[in-house]
Amino acid sequence: MFNIILFGPPGSGKGTQSKNLVIKYGLKHLSTGDLLRSEIALQTPLGIEAKNFIDKGQLVPDEVVIGMISTALETNPDVAGFLFDGFPRTDAQAEALDKLLHLKKTSIAVMLALDVSENELIKRLLHRGKSSGRSDDVDETIIRSRIHEYENKTKPVADYYRRFNKVVHIKGEGSVHEIFEELCNEIDNRKKKVSVNQPSSINQSLY
Ligand code: AMP
Repeated sequence: MFNIILFGPPGSGKGTQSKNLVIKYGLKHLSTGDLLRSEIALQTPLGIEAKNFIDKGQLVPDEVVIGMISTALETNPDVAGFLFDGFPRTDAQAEALDKLLHLKKTSIAVMLALDVSENELIKRLLHRGKSSGRSDDVDETIIRSRIHEYENKTKPVADYYRRFNKVVHIKGEGSVHEIFEELCNEIDNRKKKVSVNQPSSINQSLY
């Protein structure tokens, strides 16, 4: 399995790039934001609870999203790998993800972090709010609160993976195509390294 975390603040282009990456590499896309929005649309108890946090621009409690990811991993046993988008967003989520992947005898190969300036993020999210139908994209106060949550709770998650040399930063400003090419280059490089260093499946547990 080859598992990727696409990392970055809200509005950095994770969703857009994920759609193209999962097609190219045959990965299963796991976006906790998308999973939560479908729970909200179905008006499940989980969705109703999550909506209170999402509407304020706050993170949903760890146990809720970890439970969702755990189910998604169990229900997709035979995939080439996972692309995690918007997860993990806290250190506790990162540790839980490592444990869940370890149980599947796999791990994260690389964290690709999209860097975008705050002004650009706000501009993009307000623009997206005109058509996305997402209430958390419309109000600038909520957008700023999401960026604040990212700076305080999510950004430090990169340090967790940096310890294992798994973080690669990519400039998230430019055309969608240019950024996609950059991401693909990094993935292809990592894949080559994995196949050189880990010719047998037994070695996957090192990742
Ligand atoms: P996103 O679509 O990734 O921008 O997520 C939208 C909202 O869903 C976030 O602002 C959070 O309220 C919630 N959310 C999504 N993923 C997570 C996560 N991994 N941990 C906590 N909250 C999340």
